[in-house]
Parts: sequence; structure tokens; C-alpha cells
Amino acid sequence: MMNAAFAELGMDWRYVHLPISPALFAETARALPRSGYRGANVTIPHKGAAHDLAGELSAAARAIGAVNTLVFEQDGGIAGHNTDAGGFLDALGGDPAGRRALVLGAGGSARAVAWALREGGADVAVWNRTRDRAAQLADTLGVRLSEQGEPADILVNATSVGLDGEDPVRELPLGDADMVVDLVYAREATPLVRWARARGTRVVDGLEILLAQGARSFELWTSRPPPVAAMRAGLDSV
Ligand code: NAP
Repeated sequence: MMNAAFAELGMDWRYVHLPISPALFAETARALPRSGYRGANVTIPHKGAAHDLAGELSAAARAIGAVNTLVFEQDGGIAGHNTDAGGFLDALGGDPAGRRALVLGAGGSARAVAWALREGGADVAVWNRTRDRAAQLADTLGVRLSEQGEPADILVNATSVGLDGEDPVRELPLGDADMVVDLVYAREATPLVRWARARGTRVVDGLEILLAQGARSFELWTSRPPPVAAMRAGLDSV
């Protein structure tokens, strides 16, 4: 996706996969600017460490406590952003203000989504298999805890259910919703996306969210408008 974007704009940049052990994360990330890197995406399990490393944080990164995008600045500073939140809202394609949202899950992505929806003015409830984690998330973000799930306009799966073929109908409190958003992504439609489509519900899939958060990261690194069509084509070709 990123390399397709660089190619589209004729930029001599490369996006590379750089596996790092947690023990070496901070040391390696600090050395990247001197090796010619302009920025990085950060994923599990390093998003918290990236938050702690960044010298300055965006409002989203500070509130969520996690960074998925590092920008290495010309003056040597390291800025931390969270594009999972804004990318989620971009992919939603509409204003969530005043709508009821039920977020399933209490991990890092649930936190980003719940914060984004709350900032967008939605009435947000969070459910999680392990209740106490949802209660803690709800408490810190100032959203509601849902004990058993509840009807909502926007239902978001921010659990990993469906990643390995788990059945969302059995594992999650699914109910009627105008829109179903599944963060889980795969080449084929996920079990939840298939379930929602069969009911005629509007669906936003995990690849759209991946694309939207990536587009925001691209703009942060390059200060150029992201070539979204080329990025989508790059994603589809993997
Ligand atoms: P995480 O921190 O590991 O959290 C996993 C969550 O899934 C927890 O709430 C966990 O509940 C729940 N869960 C796992 N198995 C379950 C089951 N059988 N039944 C019910 N709940 C279950 O993961 P994360 O980083 O938040 O990511 C969650 C998913 O979102 C992953 O599939 C990830 O790939 C996807 N994601 C996609 C994007 C995108 O751009 N599309 C971005 C970020 C993440 P417990 O607390 O009870 O264990």
C-alpha cells in the first residue's frame, strides 16, 4: 500500500518491514532517523512503547495512550500520532454525532475506536468478554460499560474474533445495527462481514480502515495528499 503510494507520486522512498524485539524497541527507533528513515508505523506489541518514546504527542495519541505512527522531524525530534482513531472515522464515511455506538473489545484498537467515536459526539458503550477490561476502558475514556451488549446504530468489532475463523454469532453480542464495522481484515470477507451482508446491513470492513489509517500516516510523513486510489490498488494486489 505505501510503496504503491510512493511509486504513484514518483518518490524514491521505501516502506520496509522491520521486526524488533520489545527489549530493543526504543534503542532501534531512536537510531532510525540517522539511518535515513523519515518515520514509521508501529504495531503490536510496541504501540505503548512508541507512546513513551515520542517527545511530542498528538491529542489522539495522548488520550489513547498508544502511538501507531512516528514522524522523525528535521530538528531531531520524534512525534507520535495515532491514526487508528482518525482513520476509523474517515472510513466510517459519515458523522457519528448523536448516534449510538457499541464497541466490542477492550484492547488497543477498541480504545482508539471508542475515543474517536466519543470525540465525534457518538453515545458510546463498550462490551468485552473480560468485563473488567471494558469497565476500566469505559472509566478512563468516559464512555458507558455495556454488560451484555445492546442495540446500536453503529456496531464495531474491535476484538480479534474472526481472525482465526471464530464464529462472531457465538462469541459476540451481535444485535440489530444500521452499520457494522469489522476491524478484523483478511483477503476474503470475514465471518462478521458475511453475517452483516446477509442481513442487508451496511458494512465497513477492516481493509477500508487499514487504508484510511495508512493514508493519514502517509500524509504525516510526506506532507503530501495521499494517493488513495493507488494505495487501495496496492492493498488489493497483496
Ligand atoms: P488486542 O489488544 O489483542 O485485543 C483483543 C480483543 O479481542 C480483546 O478485547 C479480547 O477480549 C477480544 N477477544 C479475543 N478473542 C475473543 C473471543 N473468542 N471472544 C470474545 N472476545 C475475544 O487486539 P487489538 O490490537 O485491539 O486488535 C483487535 C483486532 O483489530 C485484531 O484482529 C487486529 O488485527 C484488528 N485491527 C485492525 C486494524 C485495521 O486497520 N483494520 C487496526 C488495528 C487492529 P479479552 O479482553 O476478553 O481477552
